[in-house]
Amino acid sequence: MTDKRKLGTLCVQEGWKPKTGESRVLPIYQSTTFKYDNTQQMADLFDLKASGYFYTRLQNPTNDFVANKIAALEGGVAAMLTSSGQAASFYSIFNICEAGDHFISSSTIYGGTYNLFAVTMKKLGIEVTFVDPDASEEEIGKAFRPNTKAVFGETIANPVLNVLDIEKFARIAHSHGVPLIVDNTFPTPINCRPFDFGADIVIHSTTKYMDGHATAVGGVIVDSGNFDWDAHADKFPGMTQPDPSYHGLAYSKAFGKAAFITKATAQLMRDFGSIQSPQNAFLLNLGLETLHLRVPRHCENALTVAQYLEENPEVAWVNYSGLKSSPYYELAQKQFTNGRSCGVVTFGIKGGRERSIKFMDSLNLTCIVTHVADARTCVLHPASHTHRQLTDEQLIEAGVRPDLIRYSVGIEDVEDIINDLETGFKAL
Ligand SMILES: *Cc1c(COP(=O)(O)O)cnc(C)c1O
Repeated sequence: MTDKRKLGTLCVQEGWKPKTGESRVLPIYQSTTFKYDNTQQMADLFDLKASGYFYTRLQNPTNDFVANKIAALEGGVAAMLTSSGQAASFYSIFNICEAGDHFISSSTIYGGTYNLFAVTMKKLGIEVTFVDPDASEEEIGKAFRPNTKAVFGETIANPVLNVLDIEKFARIAHSHGVPLIVDNTFPTPINCRPFDFGADIVIHSTTKYMDGHATAVGGVIVDSGNFDWDAHADKFPGMTQPDPSYHGLAYSKAFGKAAFITKATAQLMRDFGSIQSPQNAFLLNLGLETLHLRVPRHCENALTVAQYLEENPEVAWVNYSGLKSSPYYELAQKQFTNGRSCGVVTFGIKGGRERSIKFMDSLNLTCIVTHVADARTCVLHPASHTHRQLTDEQLIEAGVRPDLIRYSVGIEDVEDIINDLETGFKAL
């Protein structure tokens, strides 16, 4: 599926390609099921001998057209939409690991993913070790065990905003014979394509920039097709050994580069059923059609906001990898297209938590919502909202300072965003 056309063209044109007389716009296949003429045709689908649609819990054409567009954007071979980013994270690990297995994750990841890995996966018998993403290769290497099956990280962590050195993480994972999975939600393929730096599998919360308008919760898993499961066959029996729930079919042999996504669809979607609704996939596709226009605007506005904040005497600190003062500036320049990272900036107000709250409550254009990466500028105070169960000590351990304001810069005129920030500072 690798397409030589450029990203903007893929955003607009890839996926649904109508034939003569067909709908110009991606149709919504609002149907749970699909019709066949004889018993054998459907039997072959159930046996994975033929490919086709029979029940939307497994596959739906609308979803597949959108998944194919995202696969092309990431430069992957295949993709699967999921009902949410959380489902994508879970499937990406559970497609590889089973009870008794272990994986390694960067410690700075989205809070929901942290909880999934640390608490819920543990109940399934899968253990995780969190590592400092900025630690040396040698240090991170110490976390490996004989039963380690994967390494996970976030290209730009939400909300800590550290930048993952994907090449370093890929080297570490590959030297131990396991794949690297990267959550690429914040940069999107417009700013970074993790496969170009050695990642094997990419996931997204499509709820964020890909949808971009805060209309539909969703996720996606994309496979590069590059990881050689058979070269480490003993580590990945689920990928390389016969599957008793499909008459002894072995995914790596039967499907080659499509093995990972085929297994995720045939086993995990079949059994867990976290599909994206075709309606939501349609909305996601509308968002994707302008992703290449919105993302650079988010980033330009965010850089202006970050520079403004850095010069403001009320501001204690600003974190944005587009600022020269960021410890991730060099890495961002190398790994991200035109050095752009994302539209999210974090900062703290002098005087700590109470003044940060007062500032936020005085904003007008900027709304307080549990969301990021929306066309509309929005803001959240993790210590009062997403992380409110944690004590100040725990917050600092999680990399979320009590005064941290997560400011998601939208695509409005940046002068109006700055004016709104001015209003907040005047209120202090
Ligand atoms: C929001 C988010 C998720 C979870 O996605 P949902 O669509 O909310 O389930 C995962 N990773 C990152 C980086 C996120 O920002």
